[in-house]
Amino acid sequence: MSTILIIDDSETARRQIIKNLEETDIFDLHLEAEDGAQGLKTLTEIGSGIDVVACDVSMPVMDGYNFLRMVKAREELKHIPVIMVTAETDVEEIVRAFDLGASDYITKPITPSILKVRLQNMLRIKQLQDQLMMQKDLMEVMATTDPLTQIPNIRYFRQWLDNEFARSTRYGNDLTLVMIDIDHFKNINDTYGHPQGDRVLKEMAELFKEDMRKIDIVARYGGEEFVIALPQTGCDGGVIAAMRVKERVENHRFAGFQDPVTITISLGVCCLLDNAEADPQKLIDEADQALYRAKRSGRNRVEAASNCKRAAKTG
Ligand code: GH3
Ligand code: MG
Ligand code: MG
Repeated sequence: MSTILIIDDSETARRQIIKNLEETDIFDLHLEAEDGAQGLKTLTEIGSGIDVVACDVSMPVMDGYNFLRMVKAREELKHIPVIMVTAETDVEEIVRAFDLGASDYITKPITPSILKVRLQNMLRIKQLQDQLMMQKDLMEVMATTDPLTQIPNIRYFRQWLDNEFARSTRYGNDLTLVMIDIDHFKNINDTYGHPQGDRVLKEMAELFKEDMRKIDIVARYGGEEFVIALPQTGCDGGVIAAMRVKERVENHRFAGFQDPVTITISLGVCCLLDNAEADPQKLIDEADQALYRAKRSGRNRVEAASNCKRAAKTG
């Protein structure tokens, strides 16, 4: 489905362009506007649904140049190609239009065959551009999402943490990390098979997301390790959240097992409190060390980093 928006204050001029286009199958839909302001309104409402704009230069209310300026200044609209319809001899007009971001121009009086090839060409470029943008979006999602659990991967998490760490230290906000490792996960693989292990990992990611606020993030850190980050949360809140997650997992009946199986996790909590000189990696390392202590102290436990100890009671 391809759509063109024709902006011209002369109804006769609009009719002529539409008549020429209706004889072709270049566009499925021809929309009209009487001046730049009306054109901008339509473009704002329909946005990416419009593939090409053909715009007259001199119009009342908002002329073609101002229309171009407004479109090219808006992030969500600037990729839509605008073809200016200008007086044949006016070179300055044409150059000015290109300077303002026009993709091409068609001269008046309109030659139907030129109109068709120019618009066809523009539509082809727009469609290629759309494909590229879609592929770019898809690649971005693939590069930052863990394919098994569909939650952010470590790459995304590290970027996120760098930003959040900078923000938290600048504004003096709390920030807590919870590192999680599934207990004896190797046994699950060995006893029930790798596909069942995968299923547990997927379900585990869903469980972790359940208590999260919008500003929190849960990511797959690697193999059977996850990390939860809680902005604007200190040690007390972090430990409470970690205990809640621990209990949720312990009491959960994972799917795919014939007999009920209890799966537990160990958690290490570290917060930014009194830790202003730390860097994101130090925060991760301290949460990791706390996790290691939780493992050594018998698993299915929450341990907090030393700077959290006085603030929070673990177990
Ligand atoms: P601990 O309580 O000390 O953490 O013991 P553990 O068995 O969980 O730890 P270990 O590091 O020995 O084993 C982790 C296992 O996780 C081994 C590895 O095969 C498994 N694993 C890592 N990634 C995946 C995955 O994507 N799918 C499945 N099914 N298993 C995975
Ligand atoms: Mg591990
Ligand atoms: Mg483990």
